[in-house]
Amino acid sequence: MYIGIDLGGTKTESIILDENGKEIERLRKDTPQNYNGTLDTLCGLVNYLEDKYQKKCTVGVGTPGALSKETNCIKGGNSTWLNGRPLKNDIELRLNRKIILENDANCFALSEAYDGAGSKHNIVFGVIIGTGVGGGLIINKKIINGFNNITGEWGHNQMPFGSNDKWNRHDCYCGKKGCIETFLSGPGFSKHYSDTHNVKLDAKTIQKNANEGDEKALEFIFEYLDYLARGLSQVINIIDPGAIVLGGGVSNMKQIYENINPKLKKYVFSDTVNTEVVKNKFGDSSGVRGAADLGRQSI
Ligand SMILES: [Zn+2]
Repeated sequence: MYIGIDLGGTKTESIILDENGKEIERLRKDTPQNYNGTLDTLCGLVNYLEDKYQKKCTVGVGTPGALSKETNCIKGGNSTWLNGRPLKNDIELRLNRKIILENDANCFALSEAYDGAGSKHNIVFGVIIGTGVGGGLIINKKIINGFNNITGEWGHNQMPFGSNDKWNRHDCYCGKKGCIETFLSGPGFSKHYSDTHNVKLDAKTIQKNANEGDEKALEFIFEYLDYLARGLSQVINIIDPGAIVLGGGVSNMKQIYENINPKLKKYVFSDTVNTEVVKNKFGDSSGVRGAADLGRQSI
């Protein structure tokens, strides 16, 4: 059996899957906002599930950020109390075995490629667009990490210029200007709406207004789709996945699925673009399922 832990900033979720990937039990706890408390919670969940089911399981952990290849410590995570800490080693010491630890966007992508919305395809790119813009690449149901451990970080490429540019290029927290994330993330979407219409609304409200027939909001969503197509065209030109699975708040934007392919065709270097751009199958559970799938993919 396979245990997965999704270490979120506020909640730590755990799941146990049987040999066929069927969910047996899922538990949620608050994440203590400190390092030792986080270790206690995580290892407590593993011990509880193994005691209950009397099985020694594989353990996969999804976490914000990634392990630095230099220091073996967590880097770049928004749960700041994990940064600079040897999280994987410390969990292994406590559980007395090897575990598998991965970035949470990679876990999302793995879960959707394994038995989710991208399961028919050999090359799957999982995209998370919410507060930030991230992604993960799965080939033949295995995560591709890359030499620098940054595969899939398309959010910090520059947004390509277009002849129909209407939106400003804003500074990004990473130090560059005009990153894809500053256009496509929820906060980026909301900021550009405020630039255009001089009203501050969050991304969810703009989507809701569009769905209720607000023409300004709907027109803005179609502008957004053009930027989304430009960003994704860079991904397609390089890795040409069969499916791009969307997660995060943007995946609820229903206008994407019917309208994105003609827009992709404008920007991708091909006469046809049949890439499936699809909504995730497992919703919020993709992260924790993907963490458990780390054990399945390693066998
Ligand atoms: Zn950036």
